[in-house]
Amino acid sequence: MILNEVLEITQKSINIDGEEVYILENHMKKGVDELKNIIFLHRDEYMFSMLEKHLDFILSHKDFAIIFRPIKRKYITEWLPCIVYLYQKEWLRVSIQYANCLKCNWHGTIANPTDTDLYATMDNRFDIIKKMYELPFLKCPLCGNMLSGKAIWIDITER
Ligand SMILES: [Zn+2]
Repeated sequence: MILNEVLEITQKSINIDGEEVYILENHMKKGVDELKNIIFLHRDEYMFSMLEKHLDFILSHKDFAIIFRPIKRKYITEWLPCIVYLYQKEWLRVSIQYANCLKCNWHGTIANPTDTDLYATMDNRFDIIKKMYELPFLKCPLCGNMLSGKAIWIDITER
């Protein structure tokens, strides 16, 4: 997306991991409606179908938001969406993934902050990813053993 498109959705700028990004929180009604409208107009484009999934997710889960982060190409800056999760009062970028327990039958949705794509093109990405790997990751909600993915959030409503 270009900056003008992002600014129609949100003008709330915050700093995450040393990067200035724009954030759309799920209570920002006007921005949410604007984003729904933009998604509708671009429904056949891959990025917007992904964005639609992101939007559905943040509207149905507490403490999640969407950020638009700058990807600097040669002549233009593109703004790519990703999901953030409010972890101990700090927004962390996360991938929403499917995971399973390595011991029992539990499987479900998790938020994983260690996906390298979340930090692509950032100069300090290796430091950030290293810091993310030091977080205390959640264990299986049923048996307490390791999960197949690094989780800082687990959807415990699923079974
Ligand atoms: Zn388990």
